[in-house]
Amino acid sequence: MSWELGSLEYPDSFREARPYILERDYYACVKCDSEESPVVHHIDYNKQNSSIFNLCVLCHTCNAKAELEENRLAWPVELSAYTSRLDVVRRVLIGIHK
Ligand SMILES: [Zn+2]
Repeated sequence: MSWELGSLEYPDSFREARPYILERDYYACVKCDSEESPVVHHIDYNKQNSSIFNLCVLCHTCNAKAELEENRLAWPVELSAYTSRLDVVRRVLIGIHK
């Protein structure tokens, strides 16, 4: 058993999904299009939920904004509307490289 902090925080399913989400979202923030310091964000703030509908790319700045109390209701609605768009879902389902 590993005592590494990262391993405890994120499940393996997140490590597997992460590269697909980065490619799906073109390594760019889905909120502002910035390609600076892209991170894979958990839309419902639950780090155990690695569904492709719950993950999206945010830049470092937007990721910090997403954590603000005032954004915790509106942003999940907006971001999950993006991840459930058919063209976005299809990019993962058909295999991103095809
Ligand atoms: Zn951004």
